[in-house]
Amino acid sequence: QKFVFMFDHEKAVGKEMLGGKGANLAEMTRLGLPVPYGFTVTTEACNAYYEAGEQLSEAATLQIKKSLKKLEERTGKTLGDTNNPLLVSVRSGAVHSMPGMMDTVLNLGMNDETVKAIADLTHNPRFAYDSYRRFIQMFGDVVLGLDNSLYENYLENYRTSSGYNSDVQMTAGDWKEIIEAYKKITMEAAGRTFPQDPYEQLFLSISAVFDSWNNKRALLYRRLHDIPGHLGTAVNVQSMVFGNMGNDSGTGVAFTRNPSTGESELYGEYLINAQGEDVVAGIRTPQPINELKREMPDLYSELINMCNLLENHYKNMQDIEFTIENGALFFLQTRNGKRTAQSAVQIAVDMVNEGIVSEKEALLLVDPDQLSQLLHKHIDPGHTSQKLVSGLPASPGAATGEVVFDADRAELLSNEGRNVILVRPETTPEDIHGIVAAKATVTSRGGMTSHAAVVARGMGKACICGCGSINIDLESERFTVADTIVEEGDVITVDGASGDIYLGEIATIEPEMSEVFRQLLDWADNTSTLGVRTNADTPEDVRKAVELGAEGVGLCRTEHMFMDSGRLPAVQKMILAESEEERNKALNKLLPMQQQDFERIFETLRGRPVTIRLLDPPLHEFLPNVEELLVDITRLELTEPESVELGRKQKLLRSVRLLEESNPMLGLRGCRLGMVHPEIYEMQITALFQAMTGVLNKGIDVNPEIMIPLVSHVAELREMSDLVHKVAKEIGERNGISLNYLTGTMIETPRAALTADEIASEADFFSFGTNDLTQTTFGFSRDDAEGKFLQYYIENGTLPDNPFMKLDQEGVGKLVESGVTLGKQTNPQLKTGICGEHGGDKDAIRFCFDQGLDYVSCSPFRVPAARLAAAQSAL
Ligand code: ADP
Ligand code: MG
Ligand code: MG
Repeated sequence: QKFVFMFDHEKAVGKEMLGGKGANLAEMTRLGLPVPYGFTVTTEACNAYYEAGEQLSEAATLQIKKSLKKLEERTGKTLGDTNNPLLVSVRSGAVHSMPGMMDTVLNLGMNDETVKAIADLTHNPRFAYDSYRRFIQMFGDVVLGLDNSLYENYLENYRTSSGYNSDVQMTAGDWKEIIEAYKKITMEAAGRTFPQDPYEQLFLSISAVFDSWNNKRALLYRRLHDIPGHLGTAVNVQSMVFGNMGNDSGTGVAFTRNPSTGESELYGEYLINAQGEDVVAGIRTPQPINELKREMPDLYSELINMCNLLENHYKNMQDIEFTIENGALFFLQTRNGKRTAQSAVQIAVDMVNEGIVSEKEALLLVDPDQLSQLLHKHIDPGHTSQKLVSGLPASPGAATGEVVFDADRAELLSNEGRNVILVRPETTPEDIHGIVAAKATVTSRGGMTSHAAVVARGMGKACICGCGSINIDLESERFTVADTIVEEGDVITVDGASGDIYLGEIATIEPEMSEVFRQLLDWADNTSTLGVRTNADTPEDVRKAVELGAEGVGLCRTEHMFMDSGRLPAVQKMILAESEEERNKALNKLLPMQQQDFERIFETLRGRPVTIRLLDPPLHEFLPNVEELLVDITRLELTEPESVELGRKQKLLRSVRLLEESNPMLGLRGCRLGMVHPEIYEMQITALFQAMTGVLNKGIDVNPEIMIPLVSHVAELREMSDLVHKVAKEIGERNGISLNYLTGTMIETPRAALTADEIASEADFFSFGTNDLTQTTFGFSRDDAEGKFLQYYIENGTLPDNPFMKLDQEGVGKLVESGVTLGKQTNPQLKTGICGEHGGDKDAIRFCFDQGLDYVSCSPFRVPAARLAAAQSAL
């Protein structure tokens, strides 16, 4: 088995084996870019390592040694050689990029002897000893698991007591002294000496990088991004280039386009005379890449050319790491850059216009899950508040919340349901849970490519970086801007798009759909064969959804029209009526209201199809709460025992009690209501057809699809459909028009799915109500499950996901599949769709596409994402 591949290995192997970083290093090498030579130890070797109880196999060890020989031949340097030593980096790199979550060791091969050779060869002892001490520090941190602050604190003290302001002032002699101290620190804390043997250094580092696949932050990152744990990481061993050789050296990070706005411009930062991590770590605030154009114009244009080459090759925006060693440019990494939704959409459309990708390829450049970001509110440009301070606009979005200075605290408060803004000097991968919990992150140091910025953009959260004018005092939990003091708990608003920070709350407004966004979704609709409808109960929601591109309504729940406080008394009268006459009186009151709702919805839709569901929920949802009634009655008995009010409440209580059910979700609800009290459905149907008649008479087309809920037996559907037909006929004849409509049902019980062939004989359409279908298939009550045991199931690995969020394709999905197949056997014209939360989820959408459904239906704000996901399913 082949565990190791050289970067220029003739046969390209995929990134499943090489990891993203390794695959791209090989790819760049093949494209002829200047990449320091090296080799990749595969993810398979990592998995074998874990299977063997965290032990490198003999085969892998041998192959690594052989590859090292090749690397030595190519570079003309030898690991541990005292004349011309090879130095390497040992870099993690998984299949999915997990920025900064795993470990990397630089300058490996340094020891007491080789450092002298490096000092001689470079005529730069200061550089040599600095590199050596960096290596000891990284080795201690990454390989021996020591706390980095042990070294940092020592360094800090040394600097202060020598009267230096920055590391630049350190001499070779200083570094030598620090190296000796570092060795002692290592010995004391780790209980072993820092290894001088480069082979020991190398193999320990490779194991440590494999181990970092399972460190705490990597585990959390994988959980957040749904990355499976069995993939493992690859390890790249690469010869070092040095950005810290002097003022003609440096290191930087660049995006080929702006990852925040999508603008087509090289975007990034660099530091002169610095190594690797320095830019990303946010410790020194780097210079914007534009200045490189001035400082090193030739190198800058070489950089631009190579970036264009990479973009054209990968057909995607790239995020690259480069290093300049004595004026020569080297590429150390490229990957598809993380970006905000706004940037993703802009780049996708621009790349089509620039001829880099096709329209279809462009659709794949945007993740549907991101799109909701574009529909979030943003700061009202008309506001008049004075900003407190500005930083770099690292990730857009508006957020208001209480200031906190610590990631744990951010998580704690957010779990209590509070909105917080995390304010830090800089963030490290250890703060990731705080960034997740906070509405936005602000840092005083670090640039647009710092850790906080990259992570926040990936999550679609607002972020402002490098806000140098705020002075953070972590100790006393406050920051100051000139004379203004902001304490923990004070409310601020941040605008990630401008980088501005305000005291207090600022008004926000609804966003508009941008031109490029519309363009992209038009391409999506051209590609897609799966319709996207919306779940909307009110004319306002319907209007919003149509604006966002819904081609109709997949679910209009009529009960929401009953919940309106003005109508509730009439609804309660209807429910509690003791005679048919009383009930009809109440229904007659409700009819014109319901009719008006339908009219407005039909007018808004202008002929687009609308699925209207007749009354579904258990009736007690409309009634007063028993406990509140009891309290009222007890109070009245004490204070006004003779009052009329008391008598009324007592009667009400009796009626409510009569309607009480021990399991209302499975009780008198759905079509069972219509079966027992046909007059309720009759009122709704009458309102519907009268509204339809009125709107048709105005010359506006209407296409209703009437849905009978919670059917489990075909006889229920037959009886209720007959009622619909009867009313339609009467109203049609009375008005001298023929009313076109469909009748059908929601498939939301297993029996309905299992007898779909019978049910389809009475239905024009099926809509899979996957919320209830999930409840009834699992036998989980949604209201109880989520709080009581689902969380445990998921943490325990019993279930992979919450089935109310992610469609359970094996179980619930099987009922959908057989429902469609059986239904179409009886009625080949059967229209099929899905409503319920799942209708907006991209995996469920792909599933619906595969099952041959006609449409998915989701809430208005998820419509754009669903349109894109529907198109992607077809690609
Ligand atoms: P991460 O995945 O956390 O970005 P990397 O493996 O990319 O970790 O390495 C961290 C830093 O070290 C990067 O800035 C990278 O450019 C730098 N680096 C890695 N290998 C080398 C090398 N061979 N020469 C110079 N710098 C390197
Ligand atoms: Mg990197
Ligand atoms: Mg239901």
